[in-house]
Amino acid sequence: MKDKIWLSSPHMGGGEQKYVQEAFDTNWVAPLGPNVNGFEADLENYIGKETKVACLASGTSALHLALILSDVTYGDEVLCQSITFSASANPIVYQGAKPVFIDSEYETWNMCPKVLEEAIEDRISKGKKPKAIIVVHLYGMPAKMNEIMSVARKYDITLIEDAAEALGSKYKKNKCGTFGDFGILSFNGNKIITTSGGGALVCKNNKEKEKAIFLATQARDNAPHYQHSEIGYNYRMSNITAGIGRGQMEVLDEHINYRRANHKFYKDLFLNVEGITLLTEPNDDYYSNHWLTSIIIDEKITGFNREDLRLIMLEDNIETRPLWKPMHLQPVFKDCSYYGSNISEKLFKDGLCLPSGSNLTDADRERIKLSINKLLEK
Ligand SMILES: *Cc1c(COP(=O)(O)O)cnc(C)c1O
Repeated sequence: MKDKIWLSSPHMGGGEQKYVQEAFDTNWVAPLGPNVNGFEADLENYIGKETKVACLASGTSALHLALILSDVTYGDEVLCQSITFSASANPIVYQGAKPVFIDSEYETWNMCPKVLEEAIEDRISKGKKPKAIIVVHLYGMPAKMNEIMSVARKYDITLIEDAAEALGSKYKKNKCGTFGDFGILSFNGNKIITTSGGGALVCKNNKEKEKAIFLATQARDNAPHYQHSEIGYNYRMSNITAGIGRGQMEVLDEHINYRRANHKFYKDLFLNVEGITLLTEPNDDYYSNHWLTSIIIDEKITGFNREDLRLIMLEDNIETRPLWKPMHLQPVFKDCSYYGSNISEKLFKDGLCLPSGSNLTDADRERIKLSINKLLEK
């Protein structure tokens, strides 16, 4: 059996261990230190727009703190994109609030601005204005941010941008994570850069960043003893993992170029294949990091479905994955409200994510091509 080709695996640049070694040499083996500060500065520089970044234990903890800083509490409603990873929605429940799920549109596969507005109107007419909106940039593709932001502004609702999959992606030349009142990033093992596990909260100013760090370090008041006036969390990033992050920042743009080259490879492969649609940038306003290249298969035209393709590639030891199963279809969220016309259900039924790692080799791509062609040539 040939080696497994993964959907997206960690890809070290080479500089990471130098920062980790420095942490050991200086005994900064703690959830604070020069690497944490350095990684935050690197991210602030990279994302731009004078944002302030707090490095945390995970993207999920970043979302949780974003909700807390947005004043989301017990009984509140939060509008959340339905097609996403469960980590986008779980922190809503941590706060005792209720997720209300919103369908996608076909162009970017992200939250549909029209459905979002319909949902807000309907919730208001039922007597409750939603407290926050969580929009996701799925697979690195920016959502329709102009429209989403104008709806959020019109109704004066806090906007949280889940950019866990979209570090380096841009919309109208601005980086994802800078549009919302808060943005979140993830550095989990299969994301565009990884610290093995980690995340970050993108804030608009230092006050918010400091409050996030305060909450992430057990909410200790300013006193010589341990004094607490608020509930805190243990959510800060370790100085060891932040060292990995600093090394990864040195290769981030290079790795985005590799991912974009993978996307081009698939685009060429499916160029003359009817019934297969790639998730692509709708126009020049969009720049995707193409974290995962994903396709929709129209079985009526192709004669095979996403499971046929997934299984034939699995036989060749190549990992692919169905799109995220929409949250409103998940057993755990079955009692939550949902707005839309089931575009996200159709995407889930027909969609497949293809191997997209920045470390794929020419030989890997050749194997992928041969495997896919087995079905295409049938
Ligand atoms: C990975 C991911 C998260 C969670 O990030 P972790 O660092 O794994 O906690 C949140 N939202 C989306 C869309 C993700 O893909």
